[in-house]
Amino acid sequence: MTYHRATLGLALAAVFAAAQTAPQKAAIESVERHAPRFKQLSRRIWENPELGWQEKQSSALLRAELEKAGFRTRGFDSMPTAFIAEWGEGRPVIGILGEYDALPGLSQEDVPERKPRVAGAPGHGCGHNLLGAASALAAVAVKERMQELGLKGAIRFYGTPAEEGGGGKIFLIRAGAFRDADVVLAWHPGDFNAADDNTYLANISARVRFRGTPAHAAGAPEAGRSALDALELTAHAINLLREHVPQETRMHYIVTSGGAAANIVPESAEMSLIVRHPDLDELSRIWERVKKCAEAGALAAETKLEIEVTSAYANFVLNPVLRDLLDRSLRAAGGVRYTDEERAFIEKIRATLGARPMPPIESAASVLPPKTSLSSVSTDAGDVSWVVPVGHFMAAAMPPGMPLHTWQSTACAGTELGRKGMMVAARTLALASLELLNSPDLVKQAREAFERAMQGRAYHSLLPEDRRPGQTGH
Ligand SMILES: [Zn+2]
Ligand SMILES: [Zn+2]
Repeated sequence: MTYHRATLGLALAAVFAAAQTAPQKAAIESVERHAPRFKQLSRRIWENPELGWQEKQSSALLRAELEKAGFRTRGFDSMPTAFIAEWGEGRPVIGILGEYDALPGLSQEDVPERKPRVAGAPGHGCGHNLLGAASALAAVAVKERMQELGLKGAIRFYGTPAEEGGGGKIFLIRAGAFRDADVVLAWHPGDFNAADDNTYLANISARVRFRGTPAHAAGAPEAGRSALDALELTAHAINLLREHVPQETRMHYIVTSGGAAANIVPESAEMSLIVRHPDLDELSRIWERVKKCAEAGALAAETKLEIEVTSAYANFVLNPVLRDLLDRSLRAAGGVRYTDEERAFIEKIRATLGARPMPPIESAASVLPPKTSLSSVSTDAGDVSWVVPVGHFMAAAMPPGMPLHTWQSTACAGTELGRKGMMVAARTLALASLELLNSPDLVKQAREAFERAMQGRAYHSLLPEDRRPGQTGH
């Protein structure tokens, strides 16, 4: 086995080395030179995980590092933890998205058994500590190469807060942050390396509230109008609706409040509801029908209805030109190889996930063909892809088989395992950005592919216009 693995490693190394041109080698060297500071930065953000809209230290650390590298930065009054850092002049403007928010309740030490750092506190289970740091590292390396080569155009880092339900990028779109960007690149930690060919799912999250008339449930039930009845009717109507929506639709809800005591007719009731579909326009139509279910429940139970949309993400508009650019950049960047010690850590932490089929650990070393499977998750990078050409890829910042949003992924995001994937992402982003800055024709092709995919449609978010940053979340 050991012999076989070593041979495979050597063969892959040869392939990667052969695939790099001289300018690519120089770009990768630049990434490597700046890597130690950004690896440390990713660890510092991991050690102080901050929830969406509260990422004060995380955003300040990234911003300071980019300013030190000579980038001009600017913030947003309505979003204290969002910022833009830019270097260069003129067109094209190439943007790279960075995220740095954590998830509630996932606090975890960097060990392969469940051990919170602070019980109940947040943790980086989605690896956004690596996401932001890799993107900023790539931007700094690109700036260095642009300077050396005298390239025209600008490289821009987007510090985008509150990805986990908060939709920070939607507010950045509304603030005009992408209006003059030519191409935007983005990545996400995953357990494999591949350019994305996923539409992801557009989604809408809402709190559906009913208000009725309380009464003694035994003494005067006829005087009561139950908010819980309205909620139950609504849930039933939604469950019947399932048969008559496109099959890719996802509808899920929980009851967050259903009354205080069985002998009181409930005055108020609330459900938290999420609806998803791969296409934003189709989702808009389904959402109108879901609202009718709630209206029907409220009407039948003679209660008042209030629907508060708390979050809404668009699906991802695919861009084949950028997909291919990221695929070849990933191949030149190379995958992740683990030491024996790291393999032991991976085997130990994978064992805590229970018996399930696991991809071979070696698979992190390879780059898969662009993934076309329909992903069942949502990201606010999708909204950005409706206003500017966006390319998105996954890098193996998690060991193969590792699901995100778990204590296990939180642990990995704080170790060298995560930072190795972060380096794949930084190399890929730097290579792709430099190819775009070197080739006006490629930027033009990406724009044309965007226009073709949009078919004249315009971006419209299902998030109400009066929603403010900080009010969003599930
Ligand atoms: Zn996440
Ligand atoms: Zn994420």
